[in-house]
Amino acid sequence: MSPQKSHVFPRHCHANLPKAVGGDGCYLIDETGKRYFDGSGGAAVSCLGHSNDRVREAVKAQVDQLAFAHTGFFTSDPAEALADLLIENAPGDLDRVYFVSGGSEAVESAIKLARQYHVERGEPQRRHLIARKQSYHGNTLGALSAGGNEWRRAQFAPLLVDMTHIAPCYEYAERPDGETPQDYGLRVANELEAEIQRLGEDSVIAFIAEPVVGATLGAVPAVPGYFKRVREICDQYGVLLILDEVMCGMGRTGHLFACDADGVVPDILCIAKGLGAGYQPIGAMLCSSAIYDAISDGTGFFQHGHTYIGHPVAAAAGLAVVSELLDRALPAQVQSRGAYLSSALSAAFGQYAHVGDIRGRGLFQGIEFVADRETKRTFDPKLGLAGKLKKAAFAEGLICYPMPGTRDGRNGDHVLLAPPFIATEAELDDMVGRLSRAVSSVMEAV
Ligand code: PMP
Repeated sequence: MSPQKSHVFPRHCHANLPKAVGGDGCYLIDETGKRYFDGSGGAAVSCLGHSNDRVREAVKAQVDQLAFAHTGFFTSDPAEALADLLIENAPGDLDRVYFVSGGSEAVESAIKLARQYHVERGEPQRRHLIARKQSYHGNTLGALSAGGNEWRRAQFAPLLVDMTHIAPCYEYAERPDGETPQDYGLRVANELEAEIQRLGEDSVIAFIAEPVVGATLGAVPAVPGYFKRVREICDQYGVLLILDEVMCGMGRTGHLFACDADGVVPDILCIAKGLGAGYQPIGAMLCSSAIYDAISDGTGFFQHGHTYIGHPVAAAAGLAVVSELLDRALPAQVQSRGAYLSSALSAAFGQYAHVGDIRGRGLFQGIEFVADRETKRTFDPKLGLAGKLKKAAFAEGLICYPMPGTRDGRNGDHVLLAPPFIATEAELDDMVGRLSRAVSSVMEAV
C-alpha cells in the first residue's frame, strides 16, 4: 500500500501506481526520478513524445485567447483550421469533420450517423450492424457492442446493442497452410456478404472494422485485397463502411490515414489518440459528402452531440499535432523507423521458442507469444502472462501494452509496441533490449 490513501479510482483497484510527474521526449518520469521509455504511448497516444514545444505553445496560446465556446453557438479558428487540414489530407471524398473528445465518442457518433443517414434516405428498416470478433472499438455501450472482445463484453451483455460479429482477418492464427493469403483474405471478406444475406439484404446499416487491429490482437493488418473486397460488398448492398483508426491512424502505420495502405476509402472514418498526441483529449469522425448531404438535405440536424465537441483548446492541440506530422514528414519517418524496429524485433525474438509471430505496420508492432510454436498452442490464461510481462517491463523502465489471449485460445498473449515517432534508432534498440530482458525473466519464471 502507498503511505497515503489515493482517492482516484484506478482501472485496477489494487494497483499501487507510481505518480507521473514529468515527460521528456520519449520518456515519462515518476516522482522518484525514474525514467520510463514510453514504448506504447500509453495506448498508441503519444506519437510526438511528451515535450513537444509546438503543441505545448499552441495549447497555452489558445487557453489565453479563448478556452471554450459551445458549438451550438459558435465555430472557432482552430476547429475550422484542423478540419481543413484533415480534409486536405484525407482519402477520397471525406470532407466533413465532426470533433469529439476521444475514440469511443468517435465510434458512437459514427454508429448513430450511419443509422440516421439511412433513415434520412427513407430506409428505416436498416437496423443491423456488423463488426468483427477480436476487435476493440471503445468502452461506451454502443462502441462496446461493436467490439468483439468477449472478456470486456461479458458483464454488460444484457445492456449491449444487438450487433453481429464475423471473423477478423488474422492471418497468423487463422489461415490454413494450404490456402494463399489472397484466397484467405477473400474468403474472410466474403463472410461479410454471407452475414448481410443472412440478416436481410436491405437491413444492414454499416460494417465497422479496424484497418490494423490494435488492442485485441496486437497490430494485425489485413492481408492485401481483404479491404478492397469488403468495400465492394458494402457498395453492392448499400452498407456503409466505418473504419476505426482510433489507434492505427494519424501516421502510426506510416500513412496519415491507415486505410491509405489498403487502397480503400471508407464512408466514415474514426480517429482519436494520436490526433491530440496526449496533449489534449480529442477525437474526430470524418464522413463523405454523400452522408453529410443526406442529413443536411433531410432534417438538417445530426441527432447527436456532446458538450465538448469542437473544443477550441483540444482543436488547437490537434492542429499543432497534425501540422507537426506533416511539416516534419513524420509518416515517412515512421515507415523507415518501423522497418528498423521490425528487424530489431526479429533479431531479438525471431528465434525465441515462445514467440509465435511478430507483425505490424510502421511504428505499430505486435509480438504474439505461444506455448508451442509448431502447433501455435497458446499459453494457459491462468498463467497471467500478459500481466507479468507488463510488470517486468515496467521494472525495466519500459511502458508497453501487453494483452492477455482469449480464453478459447483463438489468440495468444501479446505485447503491442507503439513508440513515439521521434524515437531514434538507438532508442528503439534500447526499447527492444528492455523488452527482451523483461520477456526472458517472465519466461524463466513461468
Ligand atoms: N477504437 C479503437 C480501435 C481503440 O483502440 C480505442 C482505444 N483503445 C477506442 C476505439 C476507444 O478510444 P477511447 O479509449 O479514447 O475512448
